[in-house]
Amino acid sequence: MTDHNFQNDRRRLLRGALMGVAAAPLVYAGVRSSQASAQDMPKLSEDDPTAVALNYVHNAADKDDMRSEGANCANCALYQASDSEWGACSVFPGKLVNVNGWCSAWVG
Ligand code: SF4
Repeated sequence: MTDHNFQNDRRRLLRGALMGVAAAPLVYAGVRSSQASAQDMPKLSEDDPTAVALNYVHNAADKDDMRSEGANCANCALYQASDSEWGACSVFPGKLVNVNGWCSAWVG
């Protein structure tokens, strides 16, 4: 390797490292803002027409006659966990569902 090539490689490596360091706060801010906005969403009401249509309840035990044993929002593939007992669900965009809830769209 010539001295010229070595310096070009070193410059490219340094540039990549600097760009990674510069981007880290932006990625962190994006993650923080999506968590904050999820927690700002209203809780889904059991009376919401879509909730009624999908038999959603805050307490999965209320639908023991309909659900698979042990199925609830906490173990549903569509549940997006959060720090609280309320999390987002792609079936009910813009609303939070209870971690102990359940609906008939449950995906195991
Ligand atoms: S789709 Fe899953 S996470 Fe969403 S309400 Fe139904 S059971 Fe809960």
